[in-house]
Amino acid sequence: MSVATTETPIASSVQAFLASPRKMLINGQWVEACTGRTFPTFNPATGDVLTHVPDGQHADIDRAVKAAREAFERGPWRTMTPSDRGKLIWKLADLIEAHTEEFAQLESLDNGKPVTVARVADVPLAVDLFRYMAGWATKIEGNTIPLSVPYTPGATYHAYTLREPVGVVGQIIPWNFPLLMAAWKLGPALATGCTVVLKPAEQTPLSALRLGELLCEADFPPGVVNIVTGFGETAGAALAAHPDVEKVAFTGSTEVGKLIVQAAAGNLKKVSLELGGKSPSIVLPDADLETSIPGVSNAIFFNHGQCCCAGSRLYVEKSLFDKVVSGVAEQAKKIKVGAGMDPTTEMGPLVSEEQHQRVLGYIESGFQEGAKAVVGGHRRGEKGYFVEPTVLIDTTSTMKVVQEEIFGPVVCAEPFTDLEEVIPKANDSIYGLAASIWTKDFSKAHRLAAQLRAGTVWINCHNIFDAALPFGGYKQSGWGREMGHDVLELYTEVKAVCAKL
Ligand code: ADP
Repeated sequence: MSVATTETPIASSVQAFLASPRKMLINGQWVEACTGRTFPTFNPATGDVLTHVPDGQHADIDRAVKAAREAFERGPWRTMTPSDRGKLIWKLADLIEAHTEEFAQLESLDNGKPVTVARVADVPLAVDLFRYMAGWATKIEGNTIPLSVPYTPGATYHAYTLREPVGVVGQIIPWNFPLLMAAWKLGPALATGCTVVLKPAEQTPLSALRLGELLCEADFPPGVVNIVTGFGETAGAALAAHPDVEKVAFTGSTEVGKLIVQAAAGNLKKVSLELGGKSPSIVLPDADLETSIPGVSNAIFFNHGQCCCAGSRLYVEKSLFDKVVSGVAEQAKKIKVGAGMDPTTEMGPLVSEEQHQRVLGYIESGFQEGAKAVVGGHRRGEKGYFVEPTVLIDTTSTMKVVQEEIFGPVVCAEPFTDLEEVIPKANDSIYGLAASIWTKDFSKAHRLAAQLRAGTVWINCHNIFDAALPFGGYKQSGWGREMGHDVLELYTEVKAVCAKL
């Protein structure tokens, strides 16, 4: 488990992208912040500055919202056929695919994730999402409604519904899958004909800015997508509160999600939220351990545990507990931790110094409350934000490490006796984003799936995403569903048209 050192050479296009401070995209133009201020973005494997991006503030959000409003009300976007809109989105997907290596490297440098993972997961999933949504552009339909209207006897009506774009949309995204989260947000907004102001996370603004260049290359009309870099408390808060934004879509922490709801109350803009999680992986007595052990390990360690749906609580039937826990610990020991740009790295650094401190603080709080580490429990190396993959036992349901989202490679494992015990345990959380069940008994698995209060239940798998599969949370894990056709509801208004014949 040494920290890897040999790195993939940085592509010349990426070097060129990083060579000068970046600008942000407003109304089809690359601009600086009104104040002229910038802030650095760091390589989390080294702590070195990668480049600088504009420090967008309220005035910049205002400019971007004006551009989005203009594009929504008057631009060619408004009159473009759904088919042409779909073609543009498809073209964007093709362009991203053609630049897969560049995006994979930018993600790895900015976020820390292994370049090998970004190549096969983040970028292709983003491409697929845009292609899936391109198909929806021509399929957003209303209904015809037969009316009875009891107080107008004898009258005949022709009534139907239209699904119209909700308007100018603010989208605020996190740093764990920077490009993919931009795709999840932009795809449905563009398919439905909305216009957008997108604010990437301050930790990882680069892939969104590169995506902006491809949006221009694809010939999206100016103002349809505006990308403002900046911090949450300034640019993000201004976007969430803006009176001329009709909807805000947010992915991030539950804490900030609550601030978004408050900020959105001023003009009662529509809100969709994809928030935190504390997802259980449940290993039943008849699970196939050959696949379940690597499966539940991957459930927590994928993306360094920086997934809102990470399987961070592991419940194992007691006869299998020791075997599964030692199996997961073995998997953890084998994970090659290192810089994301090393092609042999399986787990990179956490995204920032702040996250590093936060995750180490959680592990420490676990120890103080009586938990033990079977493996891990410490930072790795002196430089960069590395944390050892960690398996905690002797945890109880009231401990902070079991209740709160850690957002790092830390799993709490507990044994259980039967379903009567594990179902309430699994549901004992303010969150309800995801869960996984590991068993050969599919009948039992489907019955259990129905009893889990979670937006996604995986059976014999975890962290499986598809553009067609809706994703979102019960309870404090969020409002609404992203992806699939369900997401289209978040970006459309229904208009009922009723004509007396
Ligand atoms: P994390 O804690 O994992 O960094 P956050 O929820 O803080 O996640 O951040 C997710 C996104 O929300 C980022 O783009 C961030 O800039 C933005 N954000 C943070 N605070 C606010 C806020 N008060 N209002 C609007 N956006 C915010």
